[in-house]
Parts: sequence; structure tokens; C-alpha cells
Amino acid sequence: MSENRVCRNIRVSGVVQGVGFRPFVWRLAKELGLAGWVRNDSRGVEIEVRGGAEQVDRLVQRLAEDAPPLARVNSVTAREAVPGHDNDGFVIVDSRGGRAATMIGHDTAVCRDCLAEMFDPGNRRWRCAFTNCTNCGPRYTITRGVPYDRVRTSLKHFTMCQRCQAEYRRPEDRRFHAEANCCPKCGPQLFLLDAEGHRLPDDPVAGAIQLLRQGKIVAIKGLGGFHLACDARNAVAVALLRERKQRDDKPFVVMLANASSATPFVQMGVGEPGLLTLPTRPAILLRKRSGCDAALPGVAPGLAWLGVMLPYTPLQFLLFHEAAKRPAGVGWLERAQDLALVMTSANPGGEPLVVGNSEALLRLYGIADAFLMHDRDIVTRCDDSVARITSGGLQFIRRGRGYTPRAIRLPFSGPSVLAVGAWFKNTVCVTRGDEAFLSQHIGDLDNAAVCGFHEETVAQLLKLLSVEPAIVAHDLHPDFHSTRFATGFAQQRRLPLLGVQHHHAHAAAVLAEHGIQGATVAMSLDGVGIGTDGGAWGGELLCVDGERFERLGYLMPLALPGGDRAAHEPWRMAASVLHKLGRGEEIVERFADQSAASAVAQMLTGGINSPPTSSMGRIFDAVAGLLGIKSVMLYEGQAAMLLESLAQRYGDILPLDQGWRIERGCLDLLPLLRALADERSPERGAALFHATLVAALDDWVRTVAPGEKTVVGSGGCFLNQVLMRGLRNRFGAQGVRLIEARHVPPNDGGVAVGQAWVALQHLMAR
Ligand SMILES: [Zn+2]
Ligand SMILES: [Zn+2]
Repeated sequence: MSENRVCRNIRVSGVVQGVGFRPFVWRLAKELGLAGWVRNDSRGVEIEVRGGAEQVDRLVQRLAEDAPPLARVNSVTAREAVPGHDNDGFVIVDSRGGRAATMIGHDTAVCRDCLAEMFDPGNRRWRCAFTNCTNCGPRYTITRGVPYDRVRTSLKHFTMCQRCQAEYRRPEDRRFHAEANCCPKCGPQLFLLDAEGHRLPDDPVAGAIQLLRQGKIVAIKGLGGFHLACDARNAVAVALLRERKQRDDKPFVVMLANASSATPFVQMGVGEPGLLTLPTRPAILLRKRSGCDAALPGVAPGLAWLGVMLPYTPLQFLLFHEAAKRPAGVGWLERAQDLALVMTSANPGGEPLVVGNSEALLRLYGIADAFLMHDRDIVTRCDDSVARITSGGLQFIRRGRGYTPRAIRLPFSGPSVLAVGAWFKNTVCVTRGDEAFLSQHIGDLDNAAVCGFHEETVAQLLKLLSVEPAIVAHDLHPDFHSTRFATGFAQQRRLPLLGVQHHHAHAAAVLAEHGIQGATVAMSLDGVGIGTDGGAWGGELLCVDGERFERLGYLMPLALPGGDRAAHEPWRMAASVLHKLGRGEEIVERFADQSAASAVAQMLTGGINSPPTSSMGRIFDAVAGLLGIKSVMLYEGQAAMLLESLAQRYGDILPLDQGWRIERGCLDLLPLLRALADERSPERGAALFHATLVAALDDWVRTVAPGEKTVVGSGGCFLNQVLMRGLRNRFGAQGVRLIEARHVPPNDGGVAVGQAWVALQHLMAR
């Protein structure tokens, strides 16, 4: 070995901090008999290693291959070096700060080893709500900056006791450099407060369970914000929560002890139980069983899907443990349990998620009957992620906790760009090198608080990534808060601005995550987004090529009587269809329960305040209105979701013969809409609509882009499972590949990635 001794300096980049990477390197070096040191710095992990050339090579190789479970290694580079230290052994040295090129890890559910300690009555962490180690626990939500060290986390103010210190210092320990390490003696404390903020004397966990069982609403501090919880089996409690939260029909997510506890409510396909237990713990939409609505009344009314999430914080596990009467050991974790909790984000009035303790008492006053909280601060607000499984794998509806701040790998490296997203379900995106960082879900930019959170998130992402953008990309809509913010930001920093058409951005987001370059045909089926001609687009067939696109075709426009109001009131879209069918005289009678019915009829006749739109989303609304499924929506996308659920229940049906026309690239669904206007069964109508739409879209693509073998599907309508399944089968049968959004939500939550992609292509083309 002494024959050929070398000294190398090695750099590892990626998610390599706060994930037990240094102790892993330490153990590896010891095993291979190497000397040197390892440290964190702002670029990732730096290693200096000395020893036999063969052993050093083996270490370099194993750095990526055997990395700890939470690490994501992007690159390992090694170069010859002059020894900086001459120690014999291998040591872990202090972190070095500076310009950041690494990233904080994402939050992860408490691991099996930690659970075993929490449920061992003889362990010092018995029932400890803050148990974590290098393999699990909070990261992004408790960290202010990089490198990831305790002083930059919300554990900064808690001094570790001797035993915790010893764990933290011992490289063999699972808690070696676990920056959030603590125990009941030295860590944060749990407490239970009443509605007025007075401390209740009970054991906080036992007290909270008792209140939940009594039908009370308890605000519970989570990782990225508070949840509002109640007993999901208690119809009165669920209705009370809806009333107090002023959330009429929107589905709630239910938290259950484990996958087997979900069996009475939902059907799970292959792989779905495994998705529920992912360490990132997204809420997963699963297909309801017939008895679900009776067992969980009012939780997800009218929908074929139920959102299910398993516990991920130690505190959430403690609630289920308490309900199971505090069993010892981990055996109970697999057993089905009755406790079902509604766990909805505490974001009253559509404002951002509540994160602070006093903020909770104030903003949730009148909503929560009690507060289960603690004194470990939430630094970064981050909502739960929501996903579903499709035949192609996991698909995001909302990307948040567990997936932020994970990078989406791009096929090339470029200058940094900032993309500010659209209006609904806003997210922002910043790129660095060949990585695109999509922010957590921010919300709809319709109130000052969410707009503030939007600006905060831009600042935080730029700071964490330590980049200065070369360009700012935004939506074409001049009145979006995001657009106005982009304009101001770019002016202040003298940066170029780039407006990206909404549906172009939708398509580009899918191209970006799949790394597809070159001209591609894309179908963008969405709500309304402003077009390059100033019109209200939303059902577009595009050819996207780099920073450019061409509009190959669009859906035959329908009038929006009353403008924006028509986007919330499906009966208006139904009236618009009747007018177009020459049956305008039916409007007043059919929609007699709507006070504006005759005014809308007049608007349509006179062409007043009725701008045209080619939006696919508005056609879903029109159908829901024609079939009498929903007249006025209580949340965005409700009509389409109900329609999908009905079609799902009805099952297969043949498409309507001659249900559509294609003229000069335009897809006209009027024949189908005419049939639906006289359809008496909402279920049959919903199924017929979906089946015919699938056939029509397929025909449309083949007519407008004949011979095309790859088609990108993007926009909010691509969350519709019945539509997706139909298109996938139909395209597949002809050898056409449908490329779908996976890591990026297909709805407006993914638009920022597309804007960033277009901006990058724009810069590269210069
Ligand atoms: Zn752990
Ligand atoms: Zn301690």
C-alpha cells in the first residue's frame, strides 16, 4: 500500500448536507484505512484523502454508489492535492461558509429507528415529539440558510444535553451531526392550549385526542405549518370545520395510522400502498369504496377520490399511539386503526398557511377549539404535497413538503433564470446550472398575504441558491400580481423581462422535465390564459420549438357571458352553448333558479360583455351546467372534478358518432354539446362527454399534425384520470407516445418551470 500513496481532494455536490454524508465518508475512510478529513461547505462536501491509490479510487467510487438514503449525489470530482493536514486518522472538520452551491435537504417522515425509540417505554425518547436523526426529520422547514448547521436551524436556541451531545459527536452514532438532535430533557416542549390561548393541564397528546373524540377542532403544528384537525368519522365535526373555515365543498385530506387502516375507505391498486409510505409522505388521491361517503360523511362530497395521508411527524404518530392506548414497541404501527383525522392546511380565507404560535392563536381564533403546539419554530412555510398514481407513475397535483427544494434536472446548463408563475396555484422557479428549483405551492395570488408570500419565496430561493438571475420570465397577463412583481423586480435590477404565453409555458414545463428539445406537438387543455392575440385561450394545439411556438389549432370558441364570472358559474357556460345552438330561448326557463338568467340571455343575444374563449376548462363547465351537475362552483375546477367522478362511476361507453367537426385546425364540439343538452342522465352524459372528447382530441391531433409520433399533454385538464386513461389508450394503439407531466404538476402549479425553460432557451438562442 505504501508503494503508491496518493493525496486527493474530492468534491461531492447534490443534496449531501444534513443527510449523514460526513459520517458515511468517515466510516468509508476508516474501512479502507485512509487518512484525511471531510467537511461541509457551501458547495457541498469536500474531502481530502490520503492512502493507497487503489483504496482512494474505491472510496471515490463508493461515494455515489453507497450514499446514505436521504442523499442525492449529483457529481463527484477528484483531483490530485498537496496534503493540507498530516493527521494519521480520518477526521470530520468544521463547516466552511461562503457562496452556496449546495441545497438543503427536504423534510422526511420520522424513520423506523426513531419510531422504535419513541415507543420503547425504557428509552429516553419515549413519546418524544421531536425525535429525529440524520436519516429523518425536518430540514427545509427549519433551516434559514446553507450550509446546513444547527446555528442556521430553529434548534439554535436549544442547547443539547450531555447525552445528546455525545450522540452528536460520535461518528458511529445515527445522530452524529444530526443538526436537529434533541431529547425530552433538552429539546422543544409540547403544549396544549384552549381557544383563548390558556395552557391546559392535561398531557398535551392525551388531551388533544380527547378533544378530537368529543368532536372538537384542534389546530396541530406540523412541519411546514399548522393543520386543522377533526374526527373524520364525525359528520357534525366535519360540517363545523367547513362552516368555520368557510370551505363549502372542497375535499379534505384524511390522515390514517397506516395503509391497512385505509382499506375500508379506498381501493388500492398495485403500488399505491407503497406510495402512501414514501418517506416524503404526500397525500395520495385514492379511489373511494362505495361505503366511504357514509363512513366519512362530508369529507370529499361528490368525488370519486379520497385524499389519504399517513402520519409523518413524531407528533402525528403520538396521536395515533395515544388512540391505540399507548402500546409499547412498534407492532401496533402495522395494525389497522379506527382513528381517522381530517388534516387540512390551516390557511383561513385562502391566505398562506399559519406557521407561528401567536399567529395561530390570532388567525385561527374562532376556528380552532384548541391548539396542540410547541416551541420549535417553523422557518419555511410548506404545504403538504398532493399526488396520485396514474398508469405512468406518480403525478403531482400540488408539489410541496418532501419535494421542495428538490431540483428538476434539465438536459443542459445555462445562466440562472427567475420565473414567477401565473395566478392560480402559484409557484416560482429559479434555475442554477442544469437544475430547476420549483418552489413549494404558494397559492392563488388574490390577496395581499399570498402576494407577500410569493415575494418572500422568490427572495428565499435566490438566497438559498445564491444566484442572481439573468432574466425574469412571467405570464403575458399584465394584471397578475406575478407579472407586476416581475416588472418591478427586473426594473430594479436592470434585468431583461420575458413574457411567456400561458399554454406555451404549460407545454414547456413538460418538455423541461422530460428533457425534450426540438419541435414538438403539444396539446394544452386548461382553464383560461391570455393568448398572444390578447384573447382568452385554453384549448390549444401547439407546435413548441425552443423559445417559439406556433398555434396549430384551437377549440371552437364559446362566449363567456359576464366575462370572469362565467369562469365560476357553469350555468352561464351552459347558457352560452344553448345560445350557440340557436336555443337561446331555453335559457331563462332552464336556469330559472339563477336571478341573472334573463340578463345572461340578453348579453348573449346582443354580444355584450361576452368575450370568446377557446378554453377546454369552460367546456367542462358548460357540460356540468347542461347536465345539471353544478350551477355555481364553490372552488376552482369543481365542475370538472364532479364530471370526472360521474364518468368514472358510469364506466365505459362508446363515443358519440359524428360528435365533433374539424375545420381549418379548429375542433368544434358543438354536435356533442347538442346531444348533452338533451341528455337526462348526468352519469351517462358525463361518460359520453369523456369518451367522445377522447376520440375527438385524437382525431384532431391526427388531422392537424399527421404522422406525429410524440404528443405532449399539458394543462389542468390533464389531471382528469378518465380523459388521460382514454387518451393514453387511444394514442398507444396507434403508436403515438403521450408525454405527461410527472414531477411538475400539469396545472398552473407547474407553469413557472415552463416559463423558466422558455427563458433559458431564449438566452441560449442569443
Ligand atoms: Zn430517524
Ligand atoms: Zn438531550
